Order: sequence, then structure tokens, then C-alpha cells
Amino acid sequence: MIEPFLEVRNARKNFGFTTVLDGVTLGVARGEFVSLLGPSGCGKTTLLRIIAGLTGADVGDVRLDKQDITRLPPHKRDVGVVFQNYALFPHLSVLENIAFGLKGRVAKDEANRIANRFLDLVHMRDFADRSVRALSGGQQQRVAVARALAVAPKLLLLDEPFSALDRKLRETMQIELKRLLRELGTTAIFVTHDQDEALVMSDRIAVMNQGRIEQLDTPQALYHGPATSFALQFVGLSTRIYGKVIGHQDGNIIQIETRHGLVRAPGSFANGSQVIIGVRPERISLGVHDGHNSITPQLTDIVFQGARVQVHFASTEDEPIILESSARLPASLAPGEAVSISWAPEDTLVFPRETPA
Ligand code: ATP
Repeated sequence: MIEPFLEVRNARKNFGFTTVLDGVTLGVARGEFVSLLGPSGCGKTTLLRIIAGLTGADVGDVRLDKQDITRLPPHKRDVGVVFQNYALFPHLSVLENIAFGLKGRVAKDEANRIANRFLDLVHMRDFADRSVRALSGGQQQRVAVARALAVAPKLLLLDEPFSALDRKLRETMQIELKRLLRELGTTAIFVTHDQDEALVMSDRIAVMNQGRIEQLDTPQALYHGPATSFALQFVGLSTRIYGKVIGHQDGNIIQIETRHGLVRAPGSFANGSQVIIGVRPERISLGVHDGHNSITPQLTDIVFQGARVQVHFASTEDEPIILESSARLPASLAPGEAVSISWAPEDTLVFPRETPA
């Protein structure tokens, strides 16, 4: 296998008695955009800071472009960082902020030329001489990205850079940043707890939970083939039903007893195993279909979302069963009714359940 451009090997970090990173290994290819996605406190920022050299790992090493950078100080790593809170120099103009990192590296004229190019790339040409204090949040974040990229770092690290922006601006910035990094061929790692942001932007997503990477995969592979029930729950909507394996059929099909009835699914669990069943909402349809799993739960809500509609059903578990459709629903459907729904056995994801019901 080719050596990854960035490689973190077995990184561990404790703060006091708390294990924040529990042996993280991560390989990123040159030019790749990888997101670290996970709930608050799972260790995303700590991992990013270890890559940047701002925090030292207790154990583990970091290699970038064939070089061991584990013990190098941040400014010698050739890594750019963009934080959530912009961290621009308030006394400098927009252009001076972008040119700042070039000082001493290239002649003044060249620094100006490069800074102007990055001003153009982030659509801020008209603001060159303005004080950064007089910019909106979105404009400041553009300047922060341009400043980090102007020195042509080998790697760009971004920690929730758009979380302070409103939704529309955030979506625009996501698309702009992705285009810009692709044009420059820059390798990037992006921290977010927003799954939609990770799905839109990433070549691959590392789903983190309690100091570990549970799965590192493309957005499509993560959505269609989550490796754990945590990844299933954290990426995309899903219905989860608890059950117990009670039998086997030909073709690696297991039979699972649930409180909604018998469900069939591909898998190789032993009889008696406690499992969690997951089904994506767009895989569930109304009615009973030959060869499909069918259950008849009570309809609780119809949520119209324009292009799609969600139908919620009561479940004996904590979360509703959710069906999502882009088709028009029969007008007769109403909350309170018991309605048959079904999905194919092969669309049924099964995971071990640690705590028995
Ligand atoms: P968020 O999305 O909330 O930023 P995160 O996944 O980025 O979360 P980290 O910032 O890496 O999480 O923090 C992981 C854990 O480590 C948290 O419980 C945090 O309180 C703890 N932690 C982080 N930095 C320190 C520190 N310098 N001293 C003590 N504990 C820390």
C-alpha cells in the first residue's frame, strides 16, 4: 500500500484521568478532504491540535509527506489552521492579514501578488484595504481561509470554521471552500459535528466516538454501510428497532424477533443474540410487498418537507419509525391509524446490541 500523505499512528491522549484519544490511527491521501465527525467531546479538536502540534500526544506519531513531524513545533510543520473564531490580526488590513505569513519568505512585491491572488480566490478584492474589524463573520472567515492558504501549507486544518455563520452563508462557504481546495490540490482535515456539512464536503468521513474512530469511509459508504450502530445513528436518519435472533434461513438470512413482529435480514449472528436493526427511511414503503419485511405500526405524524414527506410511526423503542418518500401520499392517511409498511430484507442493517432488553 502507498504511504498516506498524512498519517497519525496510535495517538493517545489523557487529560488527567480522562482518556480523550484512545489509540487513533488515520491515513489521509494527498489532495484528500477528510472530515472528523462526532458529538461534542469525542476528541475531534484534540486530534486536530495534535496534528497541528498545538497539543502533544502522550503516545503515537504523526507523519506528513514522508517526514516524522511528531516532535516539530507548530510553525515548522507546514500546516495551516483555521479556527471557528477567525483569529485575524485586528490592527491589520484584509490584504496585510493575508500577506502576513509570507513576510520573510518571499520579497514584498511577491507577497503582495500572492495575497492579491488569494483575495480574488475568496471574492474579497473590494475589501483589500479595509480593517478586518469592519467585516462580517462570513467575510472574516474568507480572510482567515485565504491567510492560511496563502503560505501554501502542505495540509490545511479547519476546526468548525463555519459554525458561527447562518445556514445560507454556511452552505455557500462550504461549496466555495471545496472548490478552492480542489483547485489548489490542498489536503485538508475538517472538524465538524454537523453531519450534513460532512456529507456535502468530504471525500471521506472519520466518524469519531469517545476518543476513537469508529469508521473512516466515503459519505456514500458510510450512509449505506455503517459499520456500527453509532455510525448508523450519527450519519443520516434511521429507524432503529431492538430484537433477538431466533433462527436462520438459506442465503445467510437471519430471523429476528421484534416487538413489531418477525424481521428477516442478512447477517451471521448466533441464535439468542441481542441486536439493533436499522433501516433508512427512504427504504421503507407503504403497503405489504412480497418477500419484504412488513409491520403495522400506528401512524403518529405526517411531516411535509416540500420535495419529500416524512411519515412517523409509533415504536416501542424510544425513537419513531420513519418513512420518507418523494411521492404523493394517499390523502386517506391520517394519524392514529395502524398502517402496513415494508422494506426488503437486504435493506435491513443489523448490529450487535450490548445492553440486552
Ligand atoms: P467539541 O465538538 O465540543 O469541540 P471535540 O470532539 O472537539 O468537542 P475535544 O475538544 O477534543 O472534543 O475535547 C475532548 C475532551 O477532552 C472533552 O471532554 C474536553 O473537556 C477535554 N479536554 C480538551 N482539552 C482539554 C484540556 N486542555 N484540559 C483538560 N481537558 C480537556
